[in-house]
Amino acid sequence: MNYCGYYPQDMVNGIGIRVSVFLSGCSHGCNGCFSPESHNPTHGEPVTEEFIRKLLKDTDKHYISGVSFLGGDPLHKRNYQEVINLCRRIKQGLPEKNIWLWTGYTFAEIKEDVLRRPILDVIDVLVDGKFVQELKSTNTPFRGSSNQKIIKIKNL
Ligand code: SF4
Repeated sequence: MNYCGYYPQDMVNGIGIRVSVFLSGCSHGCNGCFSPESHNPTHGEPVTEEFIRKLLKDTDKHYISGVSFLGGDPLHKRNYQEVINLCRRIKQGLPEKNIWLWTGYTFAEIKEDVLRRPILDVIDVLVDGKFVQELKSTNTPFRGSSNQKIIKIKNL
């Protein structure tokens, strides 16, 4: 799994000050995609054990609310299993931190997908659905188009 962006103090992707990780790999092909370079799963740098330790250390700060996973798509076929494992590790080591995840899949699709569904057990907030250019919106916080939904999986 590769990442193509990392922000240890991000204030725009989710509520609070967050650690944000942009993972490479996406097959949704949305018209008007804001980061086409992220579609290639080999773009960027590999997520190594060293990187994960840095992520955990950066997250373990009193002013950090949690971790945001974006992309690309964290649930791309090359990513979802490692992301599920990484979320479990975050929750085990830092249970007070919350996890947000953005994906082009819908909540309904994930619930029906036996491989991806375990992600719903380890995240707190899902921002779902493809970007639809015709529904592009500037007044839907944390979403690019109005079809996308913010789903609280757990009470924060
Ligand atoms: S899901 Fe996101 S990264 Fe993937 S094509 Fe759509 S807008 Fe681009």
